[in-house]
Amino acid sequence: MNEQIKRNLLRNDIIGKVLFSSEDIQKKVIELGNKITEDYIGKDLLLISVLRGGIIFLTDLIRHIDLEICLDIMSISTYGIGESSTGVVRITKDLEEPIEGMDVLIVEDIIDTGLTISYLMRTLKARYPKSLEICTLLDRNVRRITDIKIKYVGFNIGENYIVGYGLDYKQKFRNLNAIHELKIDTVKKDIESIKNSSIF
Ligand code: 5GP
Repeated sequence: MNEQIKRNLLRNDIIGKVLFSSEDIQKKVIELGNKITEDYIGKDLLLISVLRGGIIFLTDLIRHIDLEICLDIMSISTYGIGESSTGVVRITKDLEEPIEGMDVLIVEDIIDTGLTISYLMRTLKARYPKSLEICTLLDRNVRRITDIKIKYVGFNIGENYIVGYGLDYKQKFRNLNAIHELKIDTVKKDIESIKNSSIF
C-alpha cells in the first residue's frame, strides 16, 4: 500500500465528525470582531495570542476588528501530573513590549480547565495593563476548575476532544478548516496522557 493511502486511512480513523464547519467559524469570527470593535472604540487595544493553537483564530479575528490595534505573541509550555493538568506553566517566549496602561485582550483557541489562562492572567495583571480581558473561540466550561471571567466566547463545547482550526492531535491537524471531534475510542483514551504531558 502506498504511503499516501496509508496516511489517508490513518487520518480517517482519527478525524471524526465536524463540530463546527469553516462557515460556522467564519460567521462567529466576524460576530466577535464586530463586538470587539464596538467595545474598544477609542481605546489602546493590544491583542495577545498564545502559540501555537491560538494563532489561527487570532489571524482571522484581527481582520474583522476595525480599529488600530497592536498585536503580540507569547509561547508557553504546560505541564500536568496524573489525571489532570496542574496549571504549571512556563513562558517559553515572552511578549516583545510592555503592556502597562494598555487595554489587553488575550485571544485563546480553547479554555478547558482554565488553569493555563489563570496563570496568564496572573502574570499579565502584574504588568499593570489598564484592562485585561479574555476572548476564546471555544469554552469547555464543563471541565472548569478555576474561577475566571471570559468576556467573549465563540462556542460552548462538551467533553469531547477536538482538532482543527489551530487545535492539534499529536501536533497534527491544526490546518483543518473545520473543527472536528476525534473518532475512535483508543484515540480518546490517549488524550488524557497527551493533555497531561505535552506542550499544546
Ligand atoms: P486548560 O489549561 O484550560 O485546561 O487547557 C488549555 C489548553 O489545553 C488549550 O490552550 C489547548 O492547547 C489544550 N486543549 C484543551 N482541550 C483541548 C481539545 O479538545 N483539543 C486540543 N487540541 N487541545 C485542547
